[in-house]
Amino acid sequence: MSIKGVSIQLMIGEREEASFSIKEIESCIRKAASMTGIRRLLFWNAGAKKNHDLISSISSDLGIELYTWFPVLADIVDGHVSLDESQLNPAGIRGYGKSGKWSKIDKGEENFLFACPEQSHKIASINRSLENILDSYDYSGVFLDRIRYPSFAGGLESVFGCICQDCMRSYEAYSGDTSDELNMKLEEILNFLALADEKNLEGIHSYEDLFALSGAETFYKFRSLQIERIVSHFSSTAKSRGMKVGLDLLTPSMSDITGQNYGKLHQFSDWIKMMTYCYANGPAGIPLEAVSLIRGLKAISRKSLPEKAYINLCSRLFKTELASSCDIILKNGIHPNYISSELEFAAALMPGFEDKLIPGIELVNHPFFTPPVRKDQCEASLNILKDLEHEIIASWNILYIPDEYFSMIKERMI
Ligand SMILES: [Zn+2]
Repeated sequence: MSIKGVSIQLMIGEREEASFSIKEIESCIRKAASMTGIRRLLFWNAGAKKNHDLISSISSDLGIELYTWFPVLADIVDGHVSLDESQLNPAGIRGYGKSGKWSKIDKGEENFLFACPEQSHKIASINRSLENILDSYDYSGVFLDRIRYPSFAGGLESVFGCICQDCMRSYEAYSGDTSDELNMKLEEILNFLALADEKNLEGIHSYEDLFALSGAETFYKFRSLQIERIVSHFSSTAKSRGMKVGLDLLTPSMSDITGQNYGKLHQFSDWIKMMTYCYANGPAGIPLEAVSLIRGLKAISRKSLPEKAYINLCSRLFKTELASSCDIILKNGIHPNYISSELEFAAALMPGFEDKLIPGIELVNHPFFTPPVRKDQCEASLNILKDLEHEIIASWNILYIPDEYFSMIKERMI
């Protein structure tokens, strides 16, 4: 049994342009290609325009399929998402929520500030950026990222938005409910969670159950339709040019709270990268997302429940065992067996699409990333993938993945 193929991700922004010459970037790609071969290169260019042509020429020389890695609703490549264009959550705040929000969310190069999906001018302008890239450079596919609502790392309240006027107009037309009624229901969910005892929390088994606490399931469905509409729109932009489409989705046990429904979205894509991140202390990483949820629930609670009560709820929602405290979850992450169970879960949602599910495996080892992925952690993840006979996507930025980790992949490809 062996790993079936490797794709890589490359992001060039200000930091990378300052730290790496194009020769060094080329050498990094060539080294990986010589060790494991590279099927696809997913390229996010937040630097000079000429990088598109440089990376395209290297990929073409090595016979690698080149995708433009395109963030859609947050961290966009041209311009930025302003607070006015971002989402309104039930706490009455634009942008992020407040309870359990990751303290570093707005401190790095990426800020995970999501545009409201009903901002049609903004969506049209982002789509034009994609068209410009596809019409100006030599790509064979598009890798769509950041098509979702905020996750727990953005603060607990933000997973119950967007309730701006434009979204409410569409929601009223879809549901027959009024926005006042919906606002009351969303407030009721947060009140229920604030007053919940352990037994109340034990009754929650899924994200839909959270919305069902006050009869707001229709809004839960509406949110996933909004994301489906945006994915369909951007996918058509690529498909109409004869290009392939890959999607960067949160791991399936978390994706639904952000409106990403694997069962629906796969129809717009040729393959899906699953962000099965067992160690990352960043958005989409299970340790950070779990701890953000646990801390968010603790922050709004008016009861003094033991932390374990929230950890148990989180463990049910994320479908994984979690350590006994937030500090240990952040320090040790979760067992990489999770990659295997999440692949199984996703495959059951999309019969016939199993071979097109590609887990993203955390391999970065550099002080920029918390925590740097250790050799033993890399080994543990790769051993699971080897047994599953799956392709992988080496995540994230190849510039920060040690050569030794590619050797370890190579050993498992034979
Ligand atoms: Zn909105």
